[in-house]
Amino acid sequence: PTADPQAGQAVKAADRAHVFHSWSAQGLIDPLAVAGAEGSYFWDYDGNRYLDFSSQLVNTNIGHQHPKVVAAIQEQAGKLCTVAPGFAVDVRSEAARLVAERTPGDLDKIFFTNGGAEAVENAVRMARVHTGRPKVLSAYRSYHGATAAAINLTGEPRRWASDTGTAGVVHFFGPYPYRSNFHAESEEQEGERALEHLEQLIAFEGPQSIAALILETVVGTAGVLLPPPGYLAGVREICDRHGIVFILDEVMAGFGRTGRWFALDHYGVTPDLLTFAKGVNSGYVPLGGVAISGEIAATFDRRPYPGGLTYSGHPLACASAVATMNTMAEEGIVENAARIGETVLGPGLREIAGRHPSVGEVRGTGVFWALELVKDAETREPLVPYNASGEANAPMAAFAAACKKRGLWPFVNMNRTHVVPPCTISETEAKDGLAALDAALAVADEHATA
Ligand code: PLP
Repeated sequence: PTADPQAGQAVKAADRAHVFHSWSAQGLIDPLAVAGAEGSYFWDYDGNRYLDFSSQLVNTNIGHQHPKVVAAIQEQAGKLCTVAPGFAVDVRSEAARLVAERTPGDLDKIFFTNGGAEAVENAVRMARVHTGRPKVLSAYRSYHGATAAAINLTGEPRRWASDTGTAGVVHFFGPYPYRSNFHAESEEQEGERALEHLEQLIAFEGPQSIAALILETVVGTAGVLLPPPGYLAGVREICDRHGIVFILDEVMAGFGRTGRWFALDHYGVTPDLLTFAKGVNSGYVPLGGVAISGEIAATFDRRPYPGGLTYSGHPLACASAVATMNTMAEEGIVENAARIGETVLGPGLREIAGRHPSVGEVRGTGVFWALELVKDAETREPLVPYNASGEANAPMAAFAAACKKRGLWPFVNMNRTHVVPPCTISETEAKDGLAALDAALAVADEHATA
């Protein structure tokens, strides 16, 4: 990248004048002005290049500016930029077919949205209309989006300010072996006890009042929590027994992130509804959706579906999704994510953990990893308290700054750093990123007991 600090300052000044940012105290932020991006990197106006170990918000699975996806968007823009959702359009039909081809079971009908939250919103609506029941269950330690139902379902502090009109949402604890709520001593026990907890919660809530249960197949932002063996199958069985619609949220875990097309492919579980977004087209144009089972789709055969969006199945978004899925298949990008996870990131992160007292646990698969940073590996006390900000969060802020200084853009959440690069990342890039992470962890070690 060529440096043009003046241009960067102008971009930032205009941003600060008029752009209102997500999740931020507007007067306290200093957004980096981004000049460009390619593959696994993006760069600023000062000549700094960053290896993107965050995939932005864990969505650029195909990397930045993939030429085939860019070309598909350009070509579609020349043909048909937009058309209302009521018409049949070639790219929309093809995008739906390509998604349905990858979903398990009979999840063969696709409702397109503009992103993940709207996908969750519509999945919940479908479940409520289908069952005629009001309640929805979701896990603590989850993120499902920032619209009305999606934020209420979310199981972390970003929900708190929106805890109005939560009618019908009930949270439960999912499995988390490293910090077990169930005093479990093994992963199996954690899974079993989490199922017992869920069963009891359903009994007390009244199964006949519960429309749906939503889970991230692999919990993303809230910790890269992989379900213990048998857990998802157990949830499926509980839902079946009580006539509860089972929704798997694959917004972050889907489209290659775990080294399979969908995270559920690792577990052999088929939900009734599957929500997706992010990796379906790497966010080149906003897109999300719900894959719908035959039984739920049939509910709306003779009765109108009470939901819709002006941009449902937007041609530019669908063209980018078609190009993304085809390119990922042609170039073996999902396989690359699996291979990099198995041969570079997994072994590399475990080796790093052995050297750093601040690393309490390494967990993940594919290009979906978390390092749990702790003050003390014995007690597992987190490096910073839950939901810390300001001074209390200083150790994590210093760690993130140390990564950036070394040209690595990290994904940091509470006391964790997630290693979530694009699925296209090369072995050399992954190793470069691990070396930068290794060096930056020395800063976290200063706050940990050796
Ligand atoms: N569901 C999951 C699992 C997510 O990770 C996210 C976003 O991070 C969402 C839903 C919300 O997606 P969006 O931000 O596109 O609305």
